[in-house]
Amino acid sequence: MWKGVVFDMDGTLIDSPLCFRTLREKLEIPDGAPILEHLEGLPAQERARKEQLLEEMEVEFAGGATLMPSVSRMFESLKAAGVRLGIFTRNCRAATERVLSMYALPADLVLTREDALPKPHPDGLLRFLSRWGLEPDQLLFVGDFRFDIECGRRAGVQTAYYARGEREFDDFGADMVIHDYAAFTEEMVRAIRLQKGA
Ligand SMILES: [Mg+2]
Repeated sequence: MWKGVVFDMDGTLIDSPLCFRTLREKLEIPDGAPILEHLEGLPAQERARKEQLLEEMEVEFAGGATLMPSVSRMFESLKAAGVRLGIFTRNCRAATERVLSMYALPADLVLTREDALPKPHPDGLLRFLSRWGLEPDQLLFVGDFRFDIECGRRAGVQTAYYARGEREFDDFGADMVIHDYAAFTEEMVRAIRLQKGA
């Protein structure tokens, strides 16, 4: 059973009004181009101006975020069962902190794009492994986007695609699909108890 679970934030732990179409329009980013990587390729001044604008919009959107169903209970139960919990997001530190100040999730480690190379680069997940002293097969990474699953695969960890109420979806080749955090938590806690022989 996994000794650590790391979650993506937007679309995985929180539902927010963060609208990538609006971001793209305001930042003049073509459809399909990854936002952070596109900005990186711009001339320095334009890049600085647009990164600032992106951060302002992210922080504003974070104020309207709501937790996905059963997230609080999941964090409490898994923490009580001794599982390490983390968040790894391409969002900025200020927006992430705004969310965490609204919903006190007991995460052991939170990495944002200021802390690690952004997904799909595996850098962030490798940091969780080394900070927690875990082997890749002891860590599960949960996300709702192609970059999450790709990042997990590149780090060699187990991956779960979060499909909230979706009937038809692409799981991007994830090892498992989570539809409901309450059921996932129950299964995980039961497996941990069995393993401990309780
Ligand atoms: Mg996401």
